[in-house]
Amino acid sequence: MLEVSNLSVAYGAHRAVDEVSLMVGPREIVVILGANGSGKTSLLKAIAGIQPATPGAHIALGGRELTRLRADQIVEAGLALVPEGRGIFGELSVEENLLLGAFARRARAGEAANRTRVLALFPRLRERMRQEVRTMSGGEQQMVAIGRALMSAPDILLLDEPSLGLSPLLCGELFTAMTRIADAGIGVLLVEQNARRSLAIADRGYVMANGRVVGEGQAVALRTDPAVQRAYLGVAGGSG
Ligand code: ATP
Repeated sequence: MLEVSNLSVAYGAHRAVDEVSLMVGPREIVVILGANGSGKTSLLKAIAGIQPATPGAHIALGGRELTRLRADQIVEAGLALVPEGRGIFGELSVEENLLLGAFARRARAGEAANRTRVLALFPRLRERMRQEVRTMSGGEQQMVAIGRALMSAPDILLLDEPSLGLSPLLCGELFTAMTRIADAGIGVLLVEQNARRSLAIADRGYVMANGRVVGEGQAVALRTDPAVQRAYLGVAGGSG
């Protein structure tokens, strides 16, 4: 279980994330919706230890405090981030990228089993293990990025806009993969522009605006919430 409370991120005088609290349980898919600039990326970066949170924040995984740990220690503790833009090494092969993901001490013993799991999840990667990642399609690169994160055997996986720029077909494969990742026992925290698809697979969601959580609930409830429908699902509002 990932528990975040009172998390703020400031860039100078600008508070990009303002006292956010959230939680993600094992096997849960939790989506964060919000307009551009609402602080979603900053929130994920702060949880992963890439961006400092302001004092007073608490981030815990399985009861263990992560708040002041370095990013690599947070990976060791069981949390992996697939950043926006993927963060993979284009000059390296699929195989080499996956190997880098297994660098965490917690993952070394299980490397072969993790690789088998990743390739079962993304069979397309199997035939392309030696291909340079920069020559692959956007969707395939996203699979490599998620595969690499899974190689660290995380308990919680954070994904920042994984469907950005993907064809509808690959997008469908990606969302199916996310449900399988959660079914395998991993908690998934997902930032997504594709609200329709993400609410279809999510258990719960949070809505962010100006750095704050302004709404939260079960995904089924958010799907039928008129404000969410107007803002994120392209449903025209009524006169009121
Ligand atoms: P998007 O969907 O466009 O990626 P977001 O919801 O992920 O947006 P963030 O990228 O977290 O939002 O940005 C939140 C706010 O913080 C924005 O106003 C942004 O300009 C600002 N910001 C983000 N990173 C930095 C930075 N390194 N330095 C200064 N301001 C930043």
